[in-house]
Amino acid sequence: MSEQLDLPPERMRELGYQVVDLVVDHLTGLREQPVRTLATPAELRDVLTEPVPEQPADPGALVEFLAREVLPRSLRLGHPGCLAFIPSAGNFLGVLGDLLASGFNVSPGAWPVGAGPAAVELVTARWLAALLGLPEGAGGVFTPGGTLANLTALAAARDDRLGADTTGGVLYCSDQTHPAVLRACHVLGLRQEQVRILPEMTPRAVRVEVHADRAAGLRPFLVLANAGTTATGAVDPLPGLAALCREERLWLHVDGAHGAAAALTDRGREVLRGLAAADSVVIDPHKWLFQPYEIGCVLVRDPEVLRRAFTIDRFRAHGDYLAISRPAGAETNLSDHGVQFTTEARALKLWLSLKGFGVAAFRAAIDRGLDHAEHVARRVADSPDLDLVTGPSLGIVCLRHRAGGDDVQAAICREINESGHTLVATTTVDGALALRLCTINPRTTEADLDRVLAAIERAGRTASRARAAAER
Ligand SMILES: *Cc1c(COP(=O)(O)O)cnc(C)c1O
Repeated sequence: MSEQLDLPPERMRELGYQVVDLVVDHLTGLREQPVRTLATPAELRDVLTEPVPEQPADPGALVEFLAREVLPRSLRLGHPGCLAFIPSAGNFLGVLGDLLASGFNVSPGAWPVGAGPAAVELVTARWLAALLGLPEGAGGVFTPGGTLANLTALAAARDDRLGADTTGGVLYCSDQTHPAVLRACHVLGLRQEQVRILPEMTPRAVRVEVHADRAAGLRPFLVLANAGTTATGAVDPLPGLAALCREERLWLHVDGAHGAAAALTDRGREVLRGLAAADSVVIDPHKWLFQPYEIGCVLVRDPEVLRRAFTIDRFRAHGDYLAISRPAGAETNLSDHGVQFTTEARALKLWLSLKGFGVAAFRAAIDRGLDHAEHVARRVADSPDLDLVTGPSLGIVCLRHRAGGDDVQAAICREINESGHTLVATTTVDGALALRLCTINPRTTEADLDRVLAAIERAGRTASRARAAAER
């Protein structure tokens, strides 16, 4: 390498230690930080706008700048008070896995290019398949996240069931399906009328639609079930949908980006009964398996379906400059199993943390999130001020303050989030706004949750008094 883009070994070590210190300080000091630091575009423009930096600067100062001025201006998703979205706690072994992956800069996509990291992906995907109860032989690929994992599964299913001509192909899903998944359908070229969005996903309701579509000459090919919607953690009736798919010869795809990880626990396995019958399942290790972004995973009962859909041999328009990277014998080219070609070795972090902490620690951490959601639900049921709206379901509880309608719930959300130590979200359930708490962060304590609920009770009373005063 030209020496302009190199650093002396001692300087590399110094900078590395500096970064590690900053990360450790960040992770161990989360509770003392605000859960979120907002910043305006103007503020960040002032911080970051400058001419193209032609000349070198001290990297130690730049690292310091990023850690002090840039990275703190955001939501701290691993903060114990982060109960909004799907919080991601991260874990330090995962961080080290990412560092190794970029430090060694290996790519698992082609066996002759990255055999070792490819083997780690294969074995880690098989572990996930086993943890979800999928049959022997199931496997899959890692993706940047749930969106691309869903896209990968849907593309493979489409090719498998419809072939080259997708005319008249129809899939069925609920109105709770994640918008990123519906966007993936759009990217795949499925037109709006090919994505049947149903208000309920009972096997009976789906069957009626499937039969009507068949009678109209259309080609139903897939049922897209949710195992833990992002809004409420709801689970579609998987055993019934699995039976329906068997009888109607439809592909069963389960989006478990958030919820599938609960299958590591006894309670979760019960809630997710039927998951193992799916033809494809998506799980997002960067959610409830506590991995740093980005890592999603698509698992299929028959990995050969992925290879048939995505093998680069299908798409080669010219020559074979890739000949030396083609797999031989029992070798697997993972880039033949998904939509990405060159990939980072993103499974290293998951492998390292599953082995380093042991899966039992993950089961316990997931159980803790389920316990916490149950705790919140009990506490809400006992409160004279609060109503339980949904859940607890896969770590998500929705509730309302009785003091008023949508405006009061929104005011409570604002008040809680302005406090700085807790962030909650709202979501619409049956046409009305509810407060949504996602309790899967293992750093959160029961005392944290009690404090939030007490604050919600207080904020609701304040909001209703303010409204009464305004009306007088
Ligand atoms: C988060 C989520 C997605 C999108 O996954 P990304 O990792 O954000 O791309 C899709 N479906 C569900 C149910 C999710 O929770």
